[in-house]
Amino acid sequence: MLAALPHDVVAQLALLANDGAVPVVSVVMPVFNEMENLDAILDRIVSVLEPHGAFEVLVVDDGSTDGSLAHAIGRHDRDHRIKVVALSRNFGHQSALLAGLHHARGRAVVLMDADGQDPPELLPAMIERWQGGSDVVYGVRRNRQESQWKRTSYWLFYRFLYKVADLEIPPDAGDFCLMDRKVVDALRSLNESSAYLRGLRSWVGFTQSGLEYDRPAREAGEAKYTLRKLVRLALNGVMAFSAAPLRLASVLGVITSLLGFLYVGFAVAARLLAGEVPKGWTSLIAIILIVGGSQLFVIGVLGEYVARVYGETKRRPHYVVGSRHL
Ligand code: UDP
Ligand code: MG
Repeated sequence: MLAALPHDVVAQLALLANDGAVPVVSVVMPVFNEMENLDAILDRIVSVLEPHGAFEVLVVDDGSTDGSLAHAIGRHDRDHRIKVVALSRNFGHQSALLAGLHHARGRAVVLMDADGQDPPELLPAMIERWQGGSDVVYGVRRNRQESQWKRTSYWLFYRFLYKVADLEIPPDAGDFCLMDRKVVDALRSLNESSAYLRGLRSWVGFTQSGLEYDRPAREAGEAKYTLRKLVRLALNGVMAFSAAPLRLASVLGVITSLLGFLYVGFAVAARLLAGEVPKGWTSLIAIILIVGGSQLFVIGVLGEYVARVYGETKRRPHYVVGSRHL
């Protein structure tokens, strides 16, 4: 019977069975093989939040294979304010965040990475702004401790997205944020299949404010976002919030045809004035390559959107829950 219900409803039913006071703040923390970081980050969160009333930390295990899950469950057994939702395999960071949003009960919900790059010490300032009337307080990265090429790519990507997106998505704001319950409820009602949470967070509106911070380096271990996952996230961000690439296709088409016409004019003029026919082989090949290349590119862009439409029509849930320790 449960299987017929939407997965966020199932999450809420699971929560009903687990009564207890509604926490002020829920921290949602996706974990994928973060064994070296888990204890340190949990201790930091607990000591920062303790003075601020009831709270819960939702560790969303995204199919870890290094013992993170068993360790998190151990922490839950000792301190029930730490809760664990284990996904049935690795579904990716954004899906894990969504799973956390579906299970969080707090009047405010915080999204935070487990590697220490989103410092828990910023939470009191976020809570203060929330109590002062901000429905969303998002972290803005003043600078990052990351390799030069990664920093440059992030910089370029956020500026590009800012330019092409249909709505204003603040640059250099990641997922690290605190959101009021009403924002979380709005996000949960969306159910888009290509989740790009920091974009959807802008889309839902409400009063939002950015809190600048220096993003530290990852505490321990390797980045769990592979290049492939990062590219997919970036593509999702652009395609979910902009049709600019599709328009780019027509712009490219117009430019290449214009160039083609210009070239025909040039060839005719050369024939009439100079009386000489250009040899032509090189230019012919060049034109074929340019036209062929831009056609393939345009088809590729169409394909990306079609793939997303296809994904959307399948209506698969973002994740499957393996077990809950609430
Ligand atoms: N993460 C996850 N699933 C994944 C990849 C990452 O839950 O498939 C988690 C990871 O454990 C961490 C957070 O998402 O808590 C951010 O990952 P990472 O630090 O690798 O990303 P980066 O900071 O390099 O963007
Ligand atoms: Mg990180």
